[in-house]
Amino acid sequence: METVTTAVEARAIVKKWKNEGKTVGFVPTMGYLHEGHMSLVQKAAEQNEKVVLSIFVNPMQFSPNEDLDKYPRDFDADSKLCEDNGVDLIIYPDPKEMYPEGFCSFVDMTGPTRELCGKSRPIHFRGVCTVVTKLFNIVQPDRAYFGQKDAQQLSVIRRMVTDLNMPIEIVGCPIVREKDGLAKSSRNQYLSEEERKAALILSKSVFVGQELVKKGERNAKVVCDAIREIITSEPLAKIDYVEAVDFDTIEKIDKLQGTILVAIAVYIGSTRLIDNFIDTV
Ligand code: AMP
Repeated sequence: METVTTAVEARAIVKKWKNEGKTVGFVPTMGYLHEGHMSLVQKAAEQNEKVVLSIFVNPMQFSPNEDLDKYPRDFDADSKLCEDNGVDLIIYPDPKEMYPEGFCSFVDMTGPTRELCGKSRPIHFRGVCTVVTKLFNIVQPDRAYFGQKDAQQLSVIRRMVTDLNMPIEIVGCPIVREKDGLAKSSRNQYLSEEERKAALILSKSVFVGQELVKKGERNAKVVCDAIREIITSEPLAKIDYVEAVDFDTIEKIDKLQGTILVAIAVYIGSTRLIDNFIDTV
């Protein structure tokens, strides 16, 4: 496994692989890696001859009031996990490498970035789309891997790749959870012991909503209200949103039909966590 910090070095390595006819799978991350990230790596390794993973805490997708500075980082542990899971190349750039002085080009989307996290984090998806486009241009992978954990992001990236004719297959991977149900997240480490227990209310409510849909409920309000009621029962939890949307457009829906995404964002203390389920009904 190699680690590089610049686009030029990364390009040279990938170019050599491409010249040898090898396929390349790419996993963009912000590091502090866990089994959720590794499930993407494993999928990439199954489907491609080479696997590239980037670690970059992207300042552009954080608002000034968010957790950029305290976002957890541990390059040595990340590097070891990558090595053990078959990553061939880590790209670990500095913000100055990604955004040199004078940087002024952005990838901005309307449509699926408007609702859900786009509402509470207004500049978030502009940052995500810009950095993912840059990383795609650097790596030029055959396939790129995104977790359903960030379901809106997955939908947004799919749309972006289609709209901008990027020749990359986007592969979505299921949510990896802790044994008790909490979706794995680098941000879980912000939680105190008491908050960690309270955070279970996210998955608990999502599972109840999912079960309602499975049993035939098609009224989005009924499903979202049931989820809200459960979350409200937890004193440490504060709802940011609970919404049902069409997974492809991320537009709000009243009637559940087609491929639907029911997504929640909840503050546990000062930590904002997300969870969701997708179903085709
Ligand atoms: P992050 O480092 O949080 O930006 O995540 C990098 C990628 O890993 C994104 O595509 C996430 O959706 C994915 N990911 C993070 N946590 C999980 C999880 N628990 N299960 C599946 N994928 C995940």
